[in-house]
This record gives sequence, C-alpha cells and structure tokens, in this order.
Amino acid sequence: AAATPGRVLLPGATLGVLGGGQLGRMFVHAAQRMGYFTAVLDPDEHSPAGRVSHHHLRADYLDDVALARLGDLAEAITTEFENVPADALARLGERHPVAPGAAAVAIAQDRAEEKAHFTRCGVPCAPNAVIDNEEDLAGVDDALLPGILKTARLGYDGKGQVRVATRDELRAAWEALKRAPCVLEKLLPLAFECSVVVARGRDGAMVHLPVQRNLHRAGILAVTEVHEGCVAPAQAKRVIDATRAIAKGLDYVGVLCVEFFGLEDGSLVVNEMAPRPHNSGHWSIEGADVSQFELQVRTLAGLPLTPPRQHSPAIMLNLLGDLWWRDGQERTPDWAGVLALPGAHLHLYGKADARPGRKMGHLTLTGPDVAAVRTTALEAARRLG
Ligand code: ADP
Ligand code: MG
Repeated sequence: AAATPGRVLLPGATLGVLGGGQLGRMFVHAAQRMGYFTAVLDPDEHSPAGRVSHHHLRADYLDDVALARLGDLAEAITTEFENVPADALARLGERHPVAPGAAAVAIAQDRAEEKAHFTRCGVPCAPNAVIDNEEDLAGVDDALLPGILKTARLGYDGKGQVRVATRDELRAAWEALKRAPCVLEKLLPLAFECSVVVARGRDGAMVHLPVQRNLHRAGILAVTEVHEGCVAPAQAKRVIDATRAIAKGLDYVGVLCVEFFGLEDGSLVVNEMAPRPHNSGHWSIEGADVSQFELQVRTLAGLPLTPPRQHSPAIMLNLLGDLWWRDGQERTPDWAGVLALPGAHLHLYGKADARPGRKMGHLTLTGPDVAAVRTTALEAARRLG
C-alpha cells in the first residue's frame, strides 16, 4: 500500500484510536494537549483510554455499526495494539487516513510473517522454525534446542511462550498451546536487550528516539534506561539502521518500535516489532522534547516530524499489579514517598484491578546526570517496596 493519502489534520480535528489501554490513554493525552478531539473504540467501559477520551465507543473492534460511527466521528484513525483485527483498520482505511496501515499491522500480528519481513529487509533474527503441523514438528532441527516455543499470534508480556529443552518437551509444549501455529526460536545467550522507536510520515520522512536499553523479568519489561552510551554507539547505529530498513520495507506510516537482542559474541539480532508506541518508549514523555505519543499524533495528522531531542537521562520503572499486594493483603504503594523524590514522574493508568503481572502504571525518573537518576531510581524502587 502506498503512503496513506489525505490532507493535514490540524488541531480541532478528531483523531480516533482502536483500543483503550494505557497506550491509547497516553495517545489521547498527547492529542488533547495539542488541541485535538479524540474518539476511542474499546468494549470495556472502564478502559484506561476510554475514560479520558472525548468520545468512547463501547463495542467490539469488528462491530460494523461502531466502526462506521468511529469513521463518522474521527478524521484519521490509529491503533494502540497490534491484535486489533487488521480488517477493522482496512475498513476504516476506505474512508480515512489510517496509520499504521492494515498490511503492516497484519505482518506485526504474526511472528512468522514478522520474521519473514525482517529477513527480507536483511536484518538477522534468532534461528527459528515455523510449526504449523505435525510434519513441521517432526522436522525441527536439534540445533534449535534448547529453545522458546512462541505462539505466532496474540502473545504479549511473555504470554504464549514455553521454554523447551528436548524434543519431548517441545511436543508437550505444542500440545499445551493447543497446537496453535507457533514459532520455535533458539534460546540465545543475551548480553543485553534494547529497542528503538521510529516515526515515519506519509512522505517517508523518518525520525527516531534514542536507543533504549531494556531489562525484562519473567518475560515482562521491568526497567528501561536511556542515556548516552547505554548501548555502545556502534551497536546503536546498527539498531537504528536496521529499524529504518524495517519501517521503510513496510512503507510504514506511524510509530514503530523494534526490539533487539545483543548477544554475548557482540552480534545483534532483531526480536520483534510493535506497530505502535511501546512500553520501552514511555520515558520520552518527560525525557525528550517530543514523546512517542506526540510522534503518533503527528504521523496520524500528517504534520511535520521534527527530530526528538533527549534533554535528560531517564530510567523508567514499570509498576506491575504485584506492587499492590503484600503477604496476600492488598495495599496502596507509597506514592507520596516516591513523589518526594526529585525528577520522579508518576503515571497510573486508572485500572481498578491490580492483578499480579498486570501493567498498572510506570514511573519515569529524570535528573541532571546518569548517576543522579540511577540513585533516584534505586531509592524509588526501595520506597515502592
Ligand atoms: P513478548 O511478545 O511477550 O514481548 P518476546 O518474544 O519479546 O515476547 O519475549 C519476551 C522476552 O523473553 C524477551 O524480551 C527476552 O527477554 C526473552 N526471550 C525471548 N526470545 C528469546 C530468545 N530467543 N532467547 C533468549 N531470550 C528470549
Ligand atoms: Mg517483546
């Protein structure tokens, strides 16, 4: 598909978003700050974005009436998660600019297609095999073990993934995943993980945020650090070049985040991409002069993209539902204690139900230098307990 056509939408226009989670909420905040009106489509009446949007359509993503109504309300539509049916985007795209486009989202929805795209762009990924059926399973190369079996679709935060060491475990894992189409990836010795957010406009112009260093716990992003040298400059350049190639290869319009693994031998492989702002880019709200959500607004509206400038080193700590629990008792984390720290920026997404592993909010720490930010981050983590 060619770059999304359409005129520039100036403040005062209404921007639509499919999905009402925290990413949609922060998109809504950015859009409203710039004078746009917003419309969210999400079935949950308490959705984080729906609660703060001018309009909230409570319906399923493939509900014809709701999609038509969203098209009536909004002059351009984006998505905040990749598991929204690409078909919904395609339908909206018949009437309005849609960014990212349905074709790019369809690729990002499927790990097998995503890997094929990376390979087409000349960016190496972990050795892997697609497992769709018994034959594929039998044909798996022993060199892929130990590995991680991942469902091709609908996985997030480490869900839909099983580590397997032997062929027997592989079979059992595939059965446990109900024989869904999967990708088996070789388990790699990771030296570090990083990601980068790029934004690509309708005219193909691209800007990016600095490369982010990420720490995961139990498959869920825990900490992102962004400062000069958090990833060696030569590696960072390769990450940015690869991400630009991946975005260009999709003829992408919008915000795209690509995750990479740095391996112990110094090589770099791509992990996965998200056709939207990403948890690892949240620091940009306070740490850069243009956030990933403002970039999403700008790409959607067809506005110019100016290169974001990081004005503070930043550390982002994810706030998972576990923090709300201690010894089986629900509690309120010490927000006042955390907010007494200089450069602490609290984001809570307005979710009522603090389940373990659920992303409830995040805390970004900024400061004059890396050492100061690290000290504050450690103290914040201590106060959060
Ligand atoms: P999700 O879609 O849930 O984010 P990922 O594929 O990004 O799934 O995997 C989550 C995390 O699991 C990664 O960030 C990394 O820490 C670990 N992981 C995933 N694949 C591999 C691999 N092939 N080798 C080593 N670790 C991996
Ligand atoms: Mg991931």
